[in-house]
Amino acid sequence: MSRNITLVPGKRHYLFCADEEGIKLLQPLIDVVKDGNVSYEIQIVKDNWNPILSSEWLSMQKMGSFLYATAEWNVLKKLKQLAEDAGFSEEDAQYIGYGKELIKVFCCRCHGISILEKGQPERNCEYCGLLLEVSDHYSQLRDAFLGYVAKL
Ligand SMILES: [Zn+2]
Repeated sequence: MSRNITLVPGKRHYLFCADEEGIKLLQPLIDVVKDGNVSYEIQIVKDNWNPILSSEWLSMQKMGSFLYATAEWNVLKKLKQLAEDAGFSEEDAQYIGYGKELIKVFCCRCHGISILEKGQPERNCEYCGLLLEVSDHYSQLRDAFLGYVAKL
């Protein structure tokens, strides 16, 4: 992950949405915004977080707001989805994940979907046991990467 989080200047309003660990990463940016007297809001995502609250919060933001979302990868994925649904484009937001990023791989033989940590080159299929090599071929439909038979 990238820890080089920089403040995109000149926005009308800054939104910081993070879990308790993530907010620490955003603190330097929050300090800059505070010092500059720019308007901002913070929302903390807790363990018992209700996504609807974030969704409503994001939906009521005005044009020209810029979102920083920082959370553990799996939570971040959800946040990104909520932000996109609320109309935030890639230019309106920065997403910073930390921790282990899990991806899905689907088996070329049985089409079962297994989960592995990103960067892990191969894994046995959870369903048929075939050793799979994770390819770059991503299927939007399955939200998974195609796994080929690993060459031994
Ligand atoms: Zn399989």
